[in-house]
Amino acid sequence: MAKALVLEETRKLTLRDIDLPSELGPEDVRIDIDTVGVCGSDVHYYTHGRIGPFVVEEPMVLGHEAAGVVSEVGTAVTGLAVGDRVCMEPGIPNTRSKAAKLGVYNVDPSVRFWATPPVHGCLTPSVVHPAAFTFRLPDHVSFAEGAMVEPFAIGMQAAARARIKPGDVAFVTGAGPIGIMVALAALAGGCAKVYVADLVEEKLQVAAQYDNIEPILIPRDDPAAVLRAATEGWGADVVFECAGAKASIQTALEVAAPAGCVVWVGMPVDPVPVDIVLAQSKELRMETVFRYANMYDRAIALLGSGKVDLKPLISETFAFEDSIAAFDRAVEAHPTDVKIQIKLGTA
Ligand code: ZN
Repeated sequence: MAKALVLEETRKLTLRDIDLPSELGPEDVRIDIDTVGVCGSDVHYYTHGRIGPFVVEEPMVLGHEAAGVVSEVGTAVTGLAVGDRVCMEPGIPNTRSKAAKLGVYNVDPSVRFWATPPVHGCLTPSVVHPAAFTFRLPDHVSFAEGAMVEPFAIGMQAAARARIKPGDVAFVTGAGPIGIMVALAALAGGCAKVYVADLVEEKLQVAAQYDNIEPILIPRDDPAAVLRAATEGWGADVVFECAGAKASIQTALEVAAPAGCVVWVGMPVDPVPVDIVLAQSKELRMETVFRYANMYDRAIALLGSGKVDLKPLISETFAFEDSIAAFDRAVEAHPTDVKIQIKLGTA
């Protein structure tokens, strides 16, 4: 039995003892959890009890954005040692699956992902995890930053899918946590400027604290006009749609340059009509993103090098005992909050 933050049913969280698997396999490590980020998906399970086909039918431990310290290693583990500071990739694929063999293990139909029903998450003091999906942090990268690698990996996946060329101009719809992660990954990937559009000025101010992120406040500013002015009428080389709304999906297609690329990152709640002819008339390349594959080491390298600084995005940290308050704060969705974190460790 271990203490954990348990989603009992929609809108009901408890911090209580629960029976969790604790057996250490030969290729696993045990990790004392230090910091866990509260993700939009955790909050959505809390408020709605489901995301698409994934329905919470039994009590489930929340949390999937975590960093901590290795406390025990399996007999076959070679790359990690007790005391290593690490962060963990929350999706565990079947490593023998066709998807894994192809290098696209994020779309393995049998992937087990923390805090996606029926799989428990990591808001508990200790977890067992495959060493292959556990990554050492550089000494100067904090646990709090380590717990930011998960959402940043989505930005990295989007930037990689876009096949950015040095000097590209990018446009991002939505200045939420993922929109900002995508913008930072796009800059790290070689974009000269990233324009970010949102309806909420406070969110844009958070994004625009970074050099080369330019805010576009809708409806005051017209994204297509701003991007035309910035690109001699050509448009954005790369567009990342991160809002998942009908209007922003249309805007994404309008703002993209001829022969440009649109990456669909945001997830519309319901199916949305898409202006295919507009996309065809510019021969746009379209890409989609589902989580990430092979991005953790690269994301950690960018944090370690100092090229990407995620610290300004950590809005508030709650103690483990105050986990429910942390979730209620996240539900309030303050426009200036990017990431709420929960601290379990004492380091
Ligand atoms: Zn997340």
